[in-house]
Amino acid sequence: MTSEVDLVRWQFGHRARLVLTPVQVRLVFGQAHAARTLWNLMHDWWTMLRKDQRTLAAADVAIRQARKEIDWLAVLPAQAAQGVLKTYFQAWKNCWEGRADGPNFKARFRTVMSVDIPQGRDLQIKRVHRRWGMVNIPKVGRVRFRWTKDLPVGKKANAENRITGARLIKDVLGWHIAFRVQVVESKPEPHTGPEVGIDCGVNIPLALSDENHQNHGRPARLPDGTSDRDKWLNPDEKARLLRLERRAAHRNSFRKSGQQTSNRLKRTYDQIASLRARAKRRATDWQHQTTTELARRYGTIVVEQLDITNMVKSAKGTIEEPGKNVAQKSGLNRSISQEAWGRTVTMLAYKTARHGGTLYKVPAPGTSQRCSACGFTTPGSREDQATFVCKNPDCGWAANADSNAARNILHLYRIGLVAIPAAGRAVVRRALRVKPATAR
Ligand SMILES: [Zn+2]
Repeated sequence: MTSEVDLVRWQFGHRARLVLTPVQVRLVFGQAHAARTLWNLMHDWWTMLRKDQRTLAAADVAIRQARKEIDWLAVLPAQAAQGVLKTYFQAWKNCWEGRADGPNFKARFRTVMSVDIPQGRDLQIKRVHRRWGMVNIPKVGRVRFRWTKDLPVGKKANAENRITGARLIKDVLGWHIAFRVQVVESKPEPHTGPEVGIDCGVNIPLALSDENHQNHGRPARLPDGTSDRDKWLNPDEKARLLRLERRAAHRNSFRKSGQQTSNRLKRTYDQIASLRARAKRRATDWQHQTTTELARRYGTIVVEQLDITNMVKSAKGTIEEPGKNVAQKSGLNRSISQEAWGRTVTMLAYKTARHGGTLYKVPAPGTSQRCSACGFTTPGSREDQATFVCKNPDCGWAANADSNAARNILHLYRIGLVAIPAAGRAVVRRALRVKPATAR
């Protein structure tokens, strides 16, 4: 063994609930509205300016002047104002590099309220109890927050392990603080666990190629075949949601165009949002637990590379299988069941990396139609959403349709049809353009 240990730097966020007094809530809201308005002023100023005058330095000067001249802007700490400028500039960069649309004005009621605290040393975090910590919020004071994760503060903090900043965010549960955490750890040993292919199925949420399926027991579809959008709510909550939605629609029907939303309607919207947020928290919780376990158990995880165009194409049909109603419907069902697939893949990507494993994405059109035993796509093999029976006369293999797709995905990885390793170890580029059926 050598004395030198490979170190890796991880950066992640940690969100904790804040306990604010009514006075502090007003102060934070004031800051958030000032930040939002500063963004709007900035956007106005930027878009009016000649292109060659749009620089970060000019924006900085303008902000300093605005803070002197507009008195209500002073409630926003100078660092937070710099944070707004930084975020705004980044929004343009994202636009220029093709990742997003250009920034726009932030409306009063539709914007997520937030205040940035760009510097970690302003926070002065201290743990005061097993479950509580204290944090300094500029111009608000000392505030208690829920301690649910060990943070690198106090004696544990140093140049490498520290909190580099934070952001205050308001959601339906109230104000939260999201810490930006940076830690340095020894590099994880390469994970020598087994390989697995995962398909985001219609009947099984995550179908695994080794039959070790991950199911949350909440069917994506109702007995009458329609999709269940609110599968994470229990029957009482579903009934309440329906009642609230009807009430909102009823109240909305009295509203004339251009008229302001009434406070009663706003309240109903808030109640609907809090139910939806509860469902989302349950779904995310399940995803976190499941992906952590998968990253612990498997060294190599292979998933299907999905993008919107691909999904539209599969609904339209391919040359071998022209689009029919059935195909369109299955495409639609898949898109519904895959609502949170992107989030699952994101979680798998960073979790496999932290456990020393690797996540691969394979381009996988037709994985649900092809037989994973003989490798042929025979029309009619996919009998319905749940069952796959190979119609190739020499084969006749039968299995669950989702697990068939997962086996196909793993096979595509094994024959080298890897698009990109999504995260983790660097790998040697494998040969592309191998036909799945002929390679077997
Ligand atoms: Zn077959």
